[in-house]
Amino acid sequence: MTVKGTLDLIRNEKIFVNTDKADAQIITIMALNKQIALKPKTERNKHGLPDLTYKVCPSCGSIYIYNADNQKANFCNDCGQKIDWS
Ligand SMILES: [Zn+2]
Repeated sequence: MTVKGTLDLIRNEKIFVNTDKADAQIITIMALNKQIALKPKTERNKHGLPDLTYKVCPSCGSIYIYNADNQKANFCNDCGQKIDWS
C-alpha cells in the first residue's frame, strides 16, 4: 500500500475525540504526511537584496534541508519532511 493510500484509509476512519486512538490517528497522519515529498519553498533575502534567494523546508520553513556536505537532503533535518528536489 502507498503512503497516500494509507492516509486515505486512516482519514476515512471515524475519529474518537479525546481518546488514545484519536491521538494515535492524528500522530500517524502527521507522520505519513511528511513522507509525501514536497518541493522546497524559495525565500527572498530579508535584507532587501532582491536577487538573493534561498530554499527552505515547505513544512516548517527551516533552512536545514541540506546535508553537512552542502548536498540536497532527502528530508528536512528539523521536521523530517520529505523534499522533492526535481
Ligand atoms: Zn522542515
